[in-house]
Amino acid sequence: MNPRCLCGGKEWTTAFTYDAPPAGEVHFRFSAVANYHREVLRCPVCGHFVSVHAMDDSGLYQEDYVSANYGRDGVRKAFERIVSLPPEQSDNVGRVRRILDFAASHLVAPAQEGRAPTVLDVGSGLCVFLHRVKAAGWDGTALDRDPRLVAHARNVVGVRGVCGDFATVEDLGRYDLVTFNKVLEHVRDPIGILARAVKFLHPAGFVYVEVPDGEAAVSEGPGREEFFIEHHHVFSAASLALLGARSGFTVRVIERLREPSTKFTLRAFLVPRMLKLG
Ligand SMILES: [Zn+2]
Repeated sequence: MNPRCLCGGKEWTTAFTYDAPPAGEVHFRFSAVANYHREVLRCPVCGHFVSVHAMDDSGLYQEDYVSANYGRDGVRKAFERIVSLPPEQSDNVGRVRRILDFAASHLVAPAQEGRAPTVLDVGSGLCVFLHRVKAAGWDGTALDRDPRLVAHARNVVGVRGVCGDFATVEDLGRYDLVTFNKVLEHVRDPIGILARAVKFLHPAGFVYVEVPDGEAAVSEGPGREEFFIEHHHVFSAASLALLGARSGFTVRVIERLREPSTKFTLRAFLVPRMLKLG
C-alpha cells in the first residue's frame, strides 16, 4: 500500500520506474537482487516524491550503509578527502557559512551567557559538518547509529559522540541548534523524527534541515542521485514547508540551491512554534 503524503494526500502519479539500479547507485546487500524493482511516486498536490519497493532494507543502517559507502577506503580517508576540498568545491563550506550567517542574526543566548554555541548534529556521518563548525568555535555533539562513525567523531574530529537512533534516544541535553544534514530523506517518518528535535532545543534555538530537491532534479531524469534507493523521500519546497509545520515548527527560511557537487538541495531554518495560550 502506498504511503500518505506529507500533505495528507493519498493519490500518487508514477514519476520513474526502475527494474535495475541506476548507474551510480550504491549496491547495498538488500538491493543487490535479481528482481530489483522500485518506483518513484509524485504527489500531484504538493510535489513531494516517495520511493517505494518491496526489498527488505530494515537492517541498512545497522552495518551495511557505512560498509557499502566507505568500505573500500574507510571512514577516515573519505573524511580527509572531503575536508581538503577547495572551498568552491565543498558543499559543506557553503552550508556552514549559511548556518553561521543565520545564527549571527538569530542566536543571542550564547553571547549573553558568555559561552560557546552548542549544536547537535543528527546522523553525523563523516562529521565534516561538525569538524568545520567546531573550527568556528561551536561546541558540537555527533549522533549516529553506526559505532564506527561515532568513534570517528570522538577520535578524529574531537567532538562528543553519541551512538543511538534519534527516533528513540533520550537524555541528550539541550542545544542552540539541531541539524539534519541530508538525513530526513533516509527515514520513513520524517515528521516523527523532526518533531523530536523540540525536546533537545533551547527555546530560543533553531533547527536546520537540508534535504534533496526532487522538484528541481526531476527534469534531469531517473538517473539523478536525489532519487537513489536510500532516499525514501525526495522533497519539494512545499513539502519541506509542510514537514516543518507538521513537526511543530515555524518556517523562517526555505532556500533552493545547486551545490558544488551538483546536488539539487533544499534547506530550511525552523524555530519552535510559539503556542498561543488562552
Ligand atoms: Zn503531497
